[in-house]
Amino acid sequence: MFHVRRRLLCTAAAAAAAARGPPPIRVALTESSGRGVFATRPIATGEVLHSAQPLVSHPSPSLLHEVCYSCLRRKVGSGGGDSSGSCYFCSDACRGHSKGFYDVEKKADWSLFDDHCSSRGLKYPYMAKRLACMVISGAVSADCLDILQPACLHQGTLTEMEEEFELLDSIFRKAGFQEEVTTFLTKEWYINVLARIRINAFRIELVASSYEDLLSSAVASVACDAAVGNAVYMLPSFYNHDCDPNTHIVWLASTDARLKALRNIEEGEELRICYIDASMDVDARQNILADGFGFQCRCLRCLSGD
Ligand SMILES: [Zn+2]
Ligand SMILES: [Zn+2]
Repeated sequence: MFHVRRRLLCTAAAAAAAARGPPPIRVALTESSGRGVFATRPIATGEVLHSAQPLVSHPSPSLLHEVCYSCLRRKVGSGGGDSSGSCYFCSDACRGHSKGFYDVEKKADWSLFDDHCSSRGLKYPYMAKRLACMVISGAVSADCLDILQPACLHQGTLTEMEEEFELLDSIFRKAGFQEEVTTFLTKEWYINVLARIRINAFRIELVASSYEDLLSSAVASVACDAAVGNAVYMLPSFYNHDCDPNTHIVWLASTDARLKALRNIEEGEELRICYIDASMDVDARQNILADGFGFQCRCLRCLSGD
């Protein structure tokens, strides 16, 4: 009974927050970390600030037939799929939403590309491939990720990407796509896209099965499933990192993300999320942030040596 009442109270609080209007955030320049996201009013612990839909997503290659090809929702039971090798969609909405890129994708033979990625343990090229299919289908423009920060790439990485691009390009050409729909598909486009996916892709871990679960405190003790895939978002990518963050990004049952306050936040305070596993020690965190994201963390926790 207490549990039910608690959930109702939480739901009511969230509904009240939502009723207050647009998300209580703004994107502005920070003093030293480029763009950042700031609170436009006081925010209470647990408040959901806003939700976000991905620009592009892709299931983990090993879960292709276990999660929805569009929203990464886990398949319930063993039914719903088919034995023809085509991908699983959790709903007509997801099937409809994906029709454009999936129709393009199905026209080509991806076996060489899949072999290339799986033998090297690569996951991001699948997202670039999907984005290419989305652009060809007319669902998005070729420059839709340009607003995001790109990673700095080493020469070795660039050479690998150039090889991948040649493979991708040859697959589209073999499939007979007209040049006028693939003019955007250049080596520069591919590298530009992957440079952004590399530091902006979120690893999607589903933590709850319902919105009520998210709002209930019980979710804190629920162990995370392994990642179901990766996705790139617009607004969530504007959040800077902190090893002791005041905000976090959570996924319930699909790629539909929610940004939630971890503590009380003052008006004007910068909202920060943690890009990595916050339980690591300071040296491990600094190494991962430098290698994966290209910056040295100077958050209060790191400066204190914790
Ligand atoms: Zn779905
Ligand atoms: Zn830090």
